[in-house]
Amino acid sequence: MPKKKSNSPEDLSAKNPLIVPVYQTASFSFKNTEELAKFHKGEEKNKFLYSRFENPTAVATESYLSTLEKSESSLLFSSGMAAITCSLISLLGSGKKLILPQTTYRHTRDLANKILSRYGVEISTVSDFNSDNLEQILEKDIRVLFAEIPSNPLLSIPDIEKVAEWTQRNRVHFIVDSTIASPAILNPLEHGADLVIHSATKYLSGHNDIVAGSISGSENLIEALKEQRMLLGSTLGINEAFLLHRGMKTLPIRMSKISETAFQLAEFLEGHKKIKNVFYPGLESHPNHKNALKYLKGSFGGLISFELENHSMTDKFIDNLKIAILAAGFGGIESQAEHHVKMAYPDLDEKNSLLTCIPKGLIRFSVGLDDFEVLRDDINESLDEC
Ligand SMILES: *Cc1c(COP(=O)(O)O)cnc(C)c1O
Repeated sequence: MPKKKSNSPEDLSAKNPLIVPVYQTASFSFKNTEELAKFHKGEEKNKFLYSRFENPTAVATESYLSTLEKSESSLLFSSGMAAITCSLISLLGSGKKLILPQTTYRHTRDLANKILSRYGVEISTVSDFNSDNLEQILEKDIRVLFAEIPSNPLLSIPDIEKVAEWTQRNRVHFIVDSTIASPAILNPLEHGADLVIHSATKYLSGHNDIVAGSISGSENLIEALKEQRMLLGSTLGINEAFLLHRGMKTLPIRMSKISETAFQLAEFLEGHKKIKNVFYPGLESHPNHKNALKYLKGSFGGLISFELENHSMTDKFIDNLKIAILAAGFGGIESQAEHHVKMAYPDLDEKNSLLTCIPKGLIRFSVGLDDFEVLRDDINESLDEC
């Protein structure tokens, strides 16, 4: 066989595909050494070198995410945790402090306490981010304030602009994990956050079929993180990037239907005599309803947390449900229900301090694309037997 210089005889982009194709390739070829040299000098636009650094399918998906997130730039990662790890490793170092709220996603806290602390990062936990608490933080060397907005599982929402004002005054990076909202509902960068992180496994991809993560922010910050991602090797796979792109195209329409159903369901649950303490930012009874009205874009998302009057019936209630599925995670088109402590903290004793902020018997319900009436009847029938 004659020696071939390239496997792609024609320019692929000249074929004008309607959809960004899957560039399933680890490497990209160059015509000659001169082209390679030009690429390294940044003179060759639209050229790629190696898929751990950059891949056209991923770049197109990142650019789509930036439009949704209203950011200058975005990066994709192999998971939400990979995105969180990359951001924290990049911005923190020995002797630098990270401020985390008590209710942060468990693995984010474990990452901080079990790994970052070994490299000299100091971790301060606060109960929540109301401005009084912030003004009491007088410690030095704070580098990063990391907030989950809305938080898991009680869906609290701080006054984001007040937090941002504090971080700017104190020269602290403000990172928001906005997985639970998705950019269809909240754009934290518009309210002063420096970086927004998503577990794209959840609403962004929306179909429970991939694990992925993202970071969005200014060109400057993202450029620095890009090198870290390349060194950490936590790039998103090419097929996952394609599926994420496809999922994001329906994000606004999914979130609109999901939020509408969730709102109706939250009102229904609040009026039910066997239910107490419904946490949903759209309800006036939610402690941060005012902030939800101020910052969320008119809808309130798909997660509802609530407790039964009779805690001892919680497991039976979940097991009786026929539509809502018992499964980890949230944000897909399937509705899901879990006893939150039993799903996320099965190894912890009830008295463990991590659990003090989560009501015993709390049920986290992720509304999918099922109709309100279907979910209401499912819940009603399950409650009848409790
Ligand atoms: C799921 C989740 C993560 C972790 O994301 P993975 O994609 O599972 O790594 C981080 N933060 C929040 C709020 C999450 O819900």
